[in-house]
This record gives sequence, C-alpha cells and structure tokens, in this order.
Amino acid sequence: MVLVLNTVADHEGAVGEADAAALPTLAGASRDDLKAALAGIGVPEKQIRMRTNQLWSWLYARGARSFDDMTDVSKSLRAKLAEAYSVERPEIVSEQVSQDGTRKWLLRLPKRGHELSAPEVETVYIPEPGRGTLCISSQVGCTLTCTFCHTGTQKLVRNLTHEEIVGQIILARDRIGDWPGADGPNDGGMIPDSLRKITNIVLMGMGEPLYNFDNVRRAMEIASDSGGLAHSKRRITLSTSGVVPEIGRWGEEAGTMLAISLHAVRDELRDELVPINRKYPIKELLEACRNYPGLSNARRITFEYVMLKGVNDSLADARALVRLLKGIPAKINLIPFNAWPGAEYECSDWEQIERFAEVVNKAGYASPVRTPRGRDISAACGQLKSASVKVRASQRAS
Ligand code: SAH
Ligand code: SF4
Repeated sequence: MVLVLNTVADHEGAVGEADAAALPTLAGASRDDLKAALAGIGVPEKQIRMRTNQLWSWLYARGARSFDDMTDVSKSLRAKLAEAYSVERPEIVSEQVSQDGTRKWLLRLPKRGHELSAPEVETVYIPEPGRGTLCISSQVGCTLTCTFCHTGTQKLVRNLTHEEIVGQIILARDRIGDWPGADGPNDGGMIPDSLRKITNIVLMGMGEPLYNFDNVRRAMEIASDSGGLAHSKRRITLSTSGVVPEIGRWGEEAGTMLAISLHAVRDELRDELVPINRKYPIKELLEACRNYPGLSNARRITFEYVMLKGVNDSLADARALVRLLKGIPAKINLIPFNAWPGAEYECSDWEQIERFAEVVNKAGYASPVRTPRGRDISAACGQLKSASVKVRASQRAS
C-alpha cells in the first residue's frame, strides 16, 4: 500500500506567475554565492567574511528556514536579506512513503528560459538499520539511453544547478527531521554522527552526474563542508554509466567514492545495455578505474550489475566478471532489475541471483544483493522518471 502523505495539487497555470514573483533562494548557495548576495545588498566589504560564515552555519549546520531564525544576525540585516532573498526549498509536488519506510519526493524546480513547464525531479530516502541513504538526482532526464532504465526513456530536459542539487539534501533533512534539535532542543551544536538519519549520499537518481560535472562538484563541496552539512566524502558515492574522460578528473577534483554501472562483461552486450560503451568500451573504462585517485582496499570502487533474466545472469558471466575485475579493489553490487511499464526485460530468478552471487563471493568479493526498496512507490533504482518533457525547438516561443 502506498501512503501518500502530502500531495500538493498541480497548479500548472499559476507556476509561471509564482516564479516571477519569487525571490531567489539562498538555500543551496555556495560561499561565493553568499558573498555576492551580501555585497549585493550593501554589506560592507570588511564584514562579508563574518556574515558569510554566519549564514553558512544557519543554512547548513542548523537548517534555518527563515532569516528570522538567524538570531545572531542583526535585525536590520535580516530585514534586508528578506527583501531580496528567501531560504525556500524546492517545491514538493508529492511525498510518498513506502511500506518499507522508503520515501520519495517529486520536486518541482523553477522554470527557466524556454521551458514550457517547470521541470520535476525525484529524490529518494532509504532508511536501513544503522544507516540512511539519500539518493539524489543530477539532471532532469538523461541524454543516455540505457535500455533497462526508465529515466533513459526521458529526454534530457536540463542539468540541475548546484543549488537544486543541494536543495534536495536540505529538503530531505527538513522532511525526516535530520537537523540539530529536530528531536529535542537545538543548542546550536552539530548532530552527532551516530544520530544522523542521512548517513550516506548517492548520486544515483535521475541523470548522468559526470555530464553535469561542475554543478555536481560544487554541490558536493557544499554537502561535504565540515562547518555545514558535513557529509564526509567517503560517504558520498557518485555513480556513472562510464564517462571515461571525466572519471579521473572527478577523483582529483571531488574525491568522492565511485560506483560504475557495469552491467555486462562483454562489449557486444554492454554496447546494447549501456550505449555509452560504444564510445568508451570496457577496457578503457576499467583502465580509468584502475587509475582512480585514492583507490585502495579501504576505498574500493563499487561495480553495479543489474540482474536481467537470460541476458547477463549466467554463471559464465559471473566468472567473467570476476576475471575482469582482477586487481581492482572492488565491491560488486548485484541489483535485481526493477521493472517499469514497457520495459523489455525481466528480473533474474532469485535462485539465479543467489548462484551468481555465490560465484562472486567465492572469488573474495563482498557482493551484497541490493534489496529492492520502495518498489511500491516506484522509488527503486531505474524507476525514476518525472513527467517533464523536453521542449522541442519548434515548440519554443521565439
Ligand atoms: N546515470 C548514473 C546514475 C543513475 S542510475 C548511472 O547510470 O550510473 C543508478 C543505478 O541504477 C545505475 O547503476 C543504473 O544502471 C541502475 N538502474 C537503472 N535502471 C535500473 C532498473 N530498471 N533496475 C535496476 N537498476 C537500474
Ligand atoms: Fe542515464 Fe544512468 Fe539511466 Fe543510463 S542508467 S539512462 S546513464 S540514468
């Protein structure tokens, strides 16, 4: 059963007007954005650093939802800020809670330029004993067309900005009560790690994050800042379908953990399942993995492998997988295929997944089978797809 907690009615017509009137939000801003915002409202140069630090702490360590909450900022500055800016979160179109506790939010982002309607993206929170994972989106739709992925059937509408990527984290924290004081008094301190609800962040929602490199990198800098949201980079994982030229650069510039959507051990099959393979074949992909900065037994790469019945799930495939990854500090994540309407594949039988996992385990790899979560609310891997459509050039107003 799906419990729809809060479904906000769709008011397509009003969105444009509301956007025009809305003040730009500082929730999701970088330090440079905050400095520029403060300078823009006339804060003297010599105060900007201190004020930026104050705003940063209120926005990201304490989760302030209005300028009025920021009690150590002078009243007059709070008033000036509120005239020009907001701390609005992305708009929630719907929030669904699965039987297993997984939550999925459909978010509406501001309309830009030529977009006919405001684009929508999904964010998913998956609670598990001892940990909680937030799965965030980096693009509306995807330019790639992996044949087993629902998002891949939706054309790219646009890249998310860094504010919109960080906005997903802020909003999730609001909704699940993951700020200091959410379950008691807010004494201004940080939540101890053991009490955090979001312990891990994965860039595994909609989109190919390495095709939105700069915004995703900026967003992860904000998310990992120890004076703010403070998500350790060792607990942030970027998943890529294999954009080889950007993998090493990501490791150097962002330094998060890495997951690779491998899904096949032969180029012929991977060309079909993950078409970017035609550009960057398996050999080149694995070479980029071997050279991933910081790679070690303590910092392994996760290889994701979706289990498709009769397609890539034979025991010969399992043995080939083990041979292929030889020498790379790796974890293998077997993902039962999540069906979606119109999909051409079926999920492998459970016994076959177990047999496959056994081959991989015997070779010394930890290979947890990813338990499908939130299937009843279509929140599982590859089921994310919003209704946003790309505006064709011919439909654009000139
Ligand atoms: N674009 C990036 C990240 C988003 S997809 C990437 O491809 O890695 C996150 C993971 O879900 C990827 O491993 C992807 O291959 C997998 N996935 C996509 N569709 C799926 C489906 N229908 N069932 C199970 N996993 C799927
Ligand atoms: Fe895009 Fe990843 Fe889906 Fe492939 S699996 S279509 S890269 S979101």
